[in-house]
Amino acid sequence: MNENGQVRRLYIQGDANVSQLRGVVKIFFFRRSLLRHMVMVYLVIGTVLFMHSPQSAQAQTKVVVIDPGHGGVDGGASGAGLIEKDVTLDLSKRIRAHLVQAGYQVQMTRDTDTDVSKLFPSKLSGRHKRDLQNRLDFIRKSQAVGALMIHINSSTNVNDRGPIVFYYAPSESGKTLATNIQHALNQVASSTQRPLPRKNFFVLRHSPCTTVLIEVGFLTNNSDAARLRTTVYREHVARAIAMSVATTLRDVPVPPPYVKKTVVNDWLLDK
Ligand SMILES: [Zn+2]
Repeated sequence: MNENGQVRRLYIQGDANVSQLRGVVKIFFFRRSLLRHMVMVYLVIGTVLFMHSPQSAQAQTKVVVIDPGHGGVDGGASGAGLIEKDVTLDLSKRIRAHLVQAGYQVQMTRDTDTDVSKLFPSKLSGRHKRDLQNRLDFIRKSQAVGALMIHINSSTNVNDRGPIVFYYAPSESGKTLATNIQHALNQVASSTQRPLPRKNFFVLRHSPCTTVLIEVGFLTNNSDAARLRTTVYREHVARAIAMSVATTLRDVPVPPPYVKKTVVNDWLLDK
């Protein structure tokens, strides 16, 4: 029915004035309802266009967090002329380059020689606690599908060598990712290490996504240290890690935004 038709029909009823008034009221409500429908149609069209826009496609790119161990005042292990914080940062940047090439978005907890304990304001006492809490909070905020914590090992036994990948013991996805990375790294390092489950590594335990801690080699082992000093070996390691991650996390859906709890309570959860 159109507005003209409605007005004409209303005029042939008894009292012309009353009918005209009713007609105007009806037209008024008809126009309001038409407006409502038009707004709904625009909203639907707008939503569809937004979902197919380039920005939205970019937002759907999967995020992987890379967390280079230590940094700033915290050098980590050292030996054979190498400081852990420097090697972890260099390796992390190389892994990032390969993951970006594979179509992932990479967020790093640090990409300079900085102290991660100062990343977010925190009421926690103790630099070490703030450091771990900040690395965890960074992962939580990222909505990442996976997170890699990069470290270099040391041991009192100089014969200990080779990369070791740790995962949170109850996590099946963590075990799968750790196993795949370990397999790839064993080939690069000519080693026979196995991935190791852990129950009480703070970040592994509380991370909302598939998270592994990779000890890339032992600075206390001559063979590992000699390899880790070369950029060629670092590049092999980085590519092996990135390719395993890219393949393993390919079908993992983007997790929902993390609902933040208080920092102190989160830390106390681990006590
Ligand atoms: Zn370390």
